Amino acid sequence: MAKLKDLEDYRDEIEQCVKCGACRAHCPVFGAERREGRVARGKVALSQAVLEGEIDFEAKVMEDLSQCLLCGSCCAGCPNKVPTDEIVAAARRRIAKEKGLSTFGKGVAAILGRPRLMNSLAKTGGKLSALIFKKLPDNSGLRLRFPLPYLEAGRTLPYFTDQPFRERCPERIEGEPGKPTVAFFTGCGINYMYPAVGEAFLKALKFLGVTVIIPKDQACCGLPAVSAGATATVEALAEQNLTALTREPVDYILTACASCNAGLVKVYGDMKGDCAELGIKTRDIFVFLLEQGLAENLAELPSVTNPVRVTYHDPCHLRTQGITKEPRDILKSLPQVEYVEMENAGTCCGLGGTYSVYHYDNSKKIGAKKAGHISASGAELVATDCPGCIMQLQDSINHAGGKQRAVHILELLSEALPEI
Ligand code: SF4
Ligand code: SF4
Repeated sequence: MAKLKDLEDYRDEIEQCVKCGACRAHCPVFGAERREGRVARGKVALSQAVLEGEIDFEAKVMEDLSQCLLCGSCCAGCPNKVPTDEIVAAARRRIAKEKGLSTFGKGVAAILGRPRLMNSLAKTGGKLSALIFKKLPDNSGLRLRFPLPYLEAGRTLPYFTDQPFRERCPERIEGEPGKPTVAFFTGCGINYMYPAVGEAFLKALKFLGVTVIIPKDQACCGLPAVSAGATATVEALAEQNLTALTREPVDYILTACASCNAGLVKVYGDMKGDCAELGIKTRDIFVFLLEQGLAENLAELPSVTNPVRVTYHDPCHLRTQGITKEPRDILKSLPQVEYVEMENAGTCCGLGGTYSVYHYDNSKKIGAKKAGHISASGAELVATDCPGCIMQLQDSINHAGGKQRAVHILELLSEALPEI
């Protein structure tokens, strides 16, 4: 049985925090609010107090613990590598266990735990798009005409598809003999909002002759439920994905979403039970493509006279796993791309899963900084490797009045590759 760690399991790590405050320089929420309760050491101290039973779950404690993107930025800058993101997630689980899930958390658990319901809601969203949203120019998304529960009017969201990606493609696409066989873990973002990214993924793997299995019964990785403290939902989703992704033997499980990658590698990898084996087989798509020699293929493509200026945003869920070079290497290899590095490419975009729903004001402040760096780079496109980041980056750019578009690197790769 898949089993998430309890707050008690983090006792040693919590005690490693020496309250030095080095995390202040790395925490985007502290950067937005400059309040001690917002920084990692404050949240670790609160989690310790929760663990020791020294405080009740009063509103102030819950608010402080909700003010975390779970981005892991503080961990990299911490001398003792205290895993604040994991500790805060475990504290939220403890709170949910004792007080029950929040109303929003109940909604997240109800929808993620019922893939058929999620499918119907996404398709309905696709059909009602014209009523709910105003189309933005330059294909940069849809703007909400009026507020919806938990969503402010004026927020940019991507198009919802009325034909999810996994319903468009066969469950198995045969490649060439002797080439690897992979399972594609699509994630919800690609399945419901960015199916073109899924198509681009398939084009790249077809180019390399790789056999792809896209299990129909795969479910959400569960990261939004991690953020909400919905323990049973995360564990049930992990079990469902274990069944779906191990039905047929594969060499790798590939992701094209940083958050799904972290879900499979870090969250499942840390679970007690068999789900950890999913983490061992999981690769980010650009790590895999480089291992398969795609950069050499790209070097043979003819050059382009008017390349487009592109910069890269590091999704936290890849950066904190040390995956920063591979996406850039692919981008720099594309003939139609003139790559420019932006300042602070590695800082969080401000999405943080359910954080941007609960704390949209702070999320916008964090996103505004990122939009400023994108603009200063002179890039026309900001490319990344995470559907969630694309959504947040485009919203931030639109709020800043920018003209840039946020895209997935796979979309640019697909443009460069010949049809075969
Ligand atoms: S940097 Fe690490 S040890 Fe220092 S206060 Fe922050 S969490 Fe604690
Ligand atoms: S995980 Fe991110 S938001 Fe949370 S305390 Fe660390 S740096 Fe701040």
